[in-house]
Amino acid sequence: MVRVRYAPSPTGTLHIGGARTALFNYLFARHHHGRFILRVEDTDRARLVPGSEEGMIRGLRSLGITWNEGPDVGGDYGPYRVSERIHRHHEAVKQLLDQGSAYRCYCTTEELENEKKRLESLKLPPRYSGKCRLRPPDDPIFQSDKPFVVRMKVPTEGETVVDDLIRGRVVFENRILDDFVIQKSDGNPVYNFAVVLDDHDMAITHVIRGEEHLSNTPKQILIYRALSLPVPEFAHLPMILAPDRTKVSKRHGATSVEEYRAQGILPEALVNYLLLLGWSAPDETEMMTLDQAAEWFDLARVQHTAAIYDYKKLVWMNSQYMRTMSVETLIEYALPFVEARHLDLSHGPDLARTVELVRERAHTLQDLTEALAFFYERPKTFDSQGMAKHFALDATPARLRVLADRLSQLRTWDHDHLARVYDEEAQRQGIKRAALIHPTRLAVTGKTVGPGLFELLEVLGQEETVARLYDVATAIEEERLTPTP
Ligand code: GLU
Repeated sequence: MVRVRYAPSPTGTLHIGGARTALFNYLFARHHHGRFILRVEDTDRARLVPGSEEGMIRGLRSLGITWNEGPDVGGDYGPYRVSERIHRHHEAVKQLLDQGSAYRCYCTTEELENEKKRLESLKLPPRYSGKCRLRPPDDPIFQSDKPFVVRMKVPTEGETVVDDLIRGRVVFENRILDDFVIQKSDGNPVYNFAVVLDDHDMAITHVIRGEEHLSNTPKQILIYRALSLPVPEFAHLPMILAPDRTKVSKRHGATSVEEYRAQGILPEALVNYLLLLGWSAPDETEMMTLDQAAEWFDLARVQHTAAIYDYKKLVWMNSQYMRTMSVETLIEYALPFVEARHLDLSHGPDLARTVELVRERAHTLQDLTEALAFFYERPKTFDSQGMAKHFALDATPARLRVLADRLSQLRTWDHDHLARVYDEEAQRQGIKRAALIHPTRLAVTGKTVGPGLFELLEVLGQEETVARLYDVATAIEEERLTPTP
């Protein structure tokens, strides 16, 4: 049975890289009818951020990613917080020490620093001198109470091969691995050591994680071998880079799942976009549900070249989701934004109608809310370029008034009747229909773009439309609204 895990360190918020790793593990497990495990790697106590674990769990769940075992849901292989598994790590360190695969190192930081400098001055790569490796077993220092770390006795020759399911065979020379530390002087195991025990004890079959961990893998394989444990399969996911091939940072758009939510990106769109960061469907379909992706997902279609993160494409995808999802769901997502914008929904048209009208043009929930606003509050500002173009004629206030007069008499307030009024008025005044439409739109919405005018007036309602037209006509006449040409 396939068992995979996502093992975040609770040191911050859930970022796109982590979310992508979790997603690929989740899909791989689903595809193979296996289990997906969440394990919190909280060994580095100094870097722990309170609330981070809860935040990550919330973030993953918001994306529709769920797990079969984890600190919050339990399972047969717990505990699922690494700090609670320390006794196992200590047992294994002892085993390695007893069998001579690891040794205690008493070198002081100062000694190590000096050695490093010496090698640097000789233009040699830094490595541990092996001083304590060479101590005879009866060296009195082993009986002392001096602080020590535990180091792995890495073979000085040969190579360790990672047969990566995505990248193929990657060969590491043991020489460069150095006698790395497996237990710190405070008695805590290091990540590279604990992870081996945890993956083994949780019966993990495939370790799927970011490429930044590839250089850790030979060290982990050496530990598996020294402990005579079966080595799992490894798959390292491609890096995620910005379009300019640099590390993704704030300046390329949001990077944490929470920020995307705050910007009004739908979780459906985000998770769909993450899917494409290094994987593609057999038929290159881009928009798909998680169910569909789980059916298709396999590591064979994960690329090994870097995945390019393109915020514009994410926003585009978001707009596609906003257009096609049910209005009810979209409203549910939009409500917190509407509330934050303090729009009073008790006055004005039904949200379902206004959302339906503006969603075509919105890219994010923030956009959507902004585009809805004029239905619920009169515009306080008017697009200045628009004013220069559409309010500048002396005739404007009179034209708006005539329209208001006629519209106030309409008996049937719908698209077609509205269109007829504009057609007739344009003809009567000998002007183009656009010369009435543009000023009306600006007067009523404050903007020069938006949904079709007659659709939007139909939804805004007769009374409100007429009132706004009179108001703006007066404001122009009284020079409270002054277009600067
Ligand atoms: N805690 C590690 C990280 O957050 C996990 C690495 C692994 O998956 O082995 O990067």
